[in-house]
Amino acid sequence: MATVLITGANRGIGLELTKRYAEGGDDVIACCREPQKADDLNGLPKVEVCGLRVSDGGSVAALKAEIGERPIDLLINNAGTPVPVKQTALEMDYDGWAEAFAVNTMAPFRMLQTFRENLKVADGGKIITITSQMGAMDLNWPVMYAYSSSKAAVNKIMRMVSLELAADGTAVALIHPGYVKTQMGGEGAEIEVEESAAGIMSVIEGISLEGTGCFMKWNGEVHPW
Ligand code: NDP
Repeated sequence: MATVLITGANRGIGLELTKRYAEGGDDVIACCREPQKADDLNGLPKVEVCGLRVSDGGSVAALKAEIGERPIDLLINNAGTPVPVKQTALEMDYDGWAEAFAVNTMAPFRMLQTFRENLKVADGGKIITITSQMGAMDLNWPVMYAYSSSKAAVNKIMRMVSLELAADGTAVALIHPGYVKTQMGGEGAEIEVEESAAGIMSVIEGISLEGTGCFMKWNGEVHPW
């Protein structure tokens, strides 16, 4: 059985992944900003709920101190934010844009750096970042400039680092989860969270060092960059 660390585990896709890995017998380190309020997580068997503010270096370091050298087989960088409200060619909330980068781009990288050794000792570790189709150069849709650029940046950084982490035996991949009915996706989205999570887990199962650095869709298709 594996040890799986998931960020943004208190709701949406992260919560569904947490439940499914735990039900499958894995040990899940479920991270969220407010663990005391994580009613859907607290009490779940095989789930250790940990406080983590992904964009705060001190918080990530505190989590590392809590976990120590424990092997981690799978790190899922799932926490993400759509901020800000104003992010068009006409109006931009620059502080919100910076926050989008802090949460969607820099935090996954900091998690990777901080837990690199835990993944290395796991032997066959995997780092998955839940990105978005919005980050693909291929998608010609001029909306959500801040969010889209933060996802494009995380795609690039994960692609680069996959080349280096191959030496550790750690595979790195990016997965677009689909347009999912969560707080972020809204009720008008295309697929249910159960379908997204099941698909993501199936894709993760197939990730290996041979395909490291790939950009996939939840349904198993390769995503164009
Ligand atoms: P939700 O809004 O349901 O959940 C987002 C999660 O991220 C929550 O756990 C939330 O924690 C956490 N989070 C948000 N902002 C921050 C922050 N500033 N610092 C730390 N944690 C934060 O969204 P989804 O489940 O839909 O999203 C999961 C991932 O999937 C994200 O990376 C998103 O970009 C990506 N995605 C989603 C799509 C969709 O259609 N839903 C489409 C493409 C990509 P809290 O409860 O504390 O706010």
